[in-house]
Amino acid sequence: MNVRRHLPERSPRMPTSPPVLTDLLARRTRFARSDAIRDILAAGAAPGVLSMAGGLPAPDTFPTEELARILDRVLTESAAAALQYSPTEGVPAMREVLARLASATGAPVTADRVLVTGGSQQGLDLVAGILLEEGDVVALDDPSYLGAVQSFRRAGARLLPIPSDADGMDTDALEERLTAGARCKVVYVVPHFHNPSGAVLSVHRRRHLAALAEKFGFVIVEDDPYADLAFDGTRQPSVDMLSERVVRLMSLSKTLCPGLRVGGLVAPASLVPELAGAKQCADLQTNTLGQHVLARLLADPGFLPGHVARLQDFYRGRAGHLSGLIESRLPWLDFERPRGGLFFWCTVTAPGIDSGSLARTALAEGVAVVPGAPFCIERDGSRNLRLSFATLTEAQLLSAVDRLSAAFEKASVA
Ligand code: PMP
Repeated sequence: MNVRRHLPERSPRMPTSPPVLTDLLARRTRFARSDAIRDILAAGAAPGVLSMAGGLPAPDTFPTEELARILDRVLTESAAAALQYSPTEGVPAMREVLARLASATGAPVTADRVLVTGGSQQGLDLVAGILLEEGDVVALDDPSYLGAVQSFRRAGARLLPIPSDADGMDTDALEERLTAGARCKVVYVVPHFHNPSGAVLSVHRRRHLAALAEKFGFVIVEDDPYADLAFDGTRQPSVDMLSERVVRLMSLSKTLCPGLRVGGLVAPASLVPELAGAKQCADLQTNTLGQHVLARLLADPGFLPGHVARLQDFYRGRAGHLSGLIESRLPWLDFERPRGGLFFWCTVTAPGIDSGSLARTALAEGVAVVPGAPFCIERDGSRNLRLSFATLTEAQLLSAVDRLSAAFEKASVA
């Protein structure tokens, strides 16, 4: 094996001088691009700025009282176990609960196919770590979720952007690429209320995707954190009901809260030991206390249905409010009314306005929004904006839209 090929290129310097630290970075660190949105998210957190930029769920929806009660009970009754190391695959009760949740909304699974993770993002990174060699191809929507793009890029993957519309990934376009010889190892989808596009993958395309996975032999990574946030309470069949080649990521961040960093994944049995091995190297295990608390919360059959119904009412209300405000006050924006999730994916219709410079002007006016370009792989995102309606009250949404309107006025005359 040619080991030198894997070494980072060194900057020219005297043979005796030791390498500077960045010369020691692994090659794969060069595949990850810098996060163009990070600055806007940081600026959005500044005092006085109204942020429609982040993908944060509303704290009003967190089950704070229930968690406080259960945390107290867990620490009183089982502190020795809840504060101890626990198995890499997850605390058994948490694996059971996740298996039940997965089975209720997708293919029936047993707990031995569940791995508890520190959220879906860790699931993405574990999958990338065990499946992808440098140069392997990952097909994904264009635009796509940035956290996934970064994990796949860092693993050295080549991204194969597939066009998408309101029905999600255009699986005919995917089939064309595969038939033309693209050797794709992973196809990544966010099937409900995609981040950032808001699209829902249609049942027809889910079936088509599953059939393509059988025919061409790739793994489908189904990342579905927004499925519970359907404004009308409906849900499409999970892709893992249609194919056995699915790794299903199970985030609890939008349904419960992201701060505990407890989520999970369901994988084909043959991949579970490798995923557990990668997880062991990454962090040994997911936070034990969080697993004990969430396992108890979710074991109560009365909790989740009522909680999810309240979530749906809450976000439907906020989305409806923002939709009315955009229609009445932002004639420069076109959008598909989202059917769930946390985002509006908008198109700037006013000629000559680039969404990146608009986002900078908006920030100066006191509102943070995210331009579309960083989410896009090949397609042009310079006319798109992603607006989150989740964390602002109705009064704040009104102020945010007025500030955005002022930014548009300035951008139009500039
Ligand atoms: N996948 C998608 C599509 C997301 O939008 C997010 C978070 N915004 C994640 C994964 C990360 O989820 P988690 O908090 O469970 O790591």
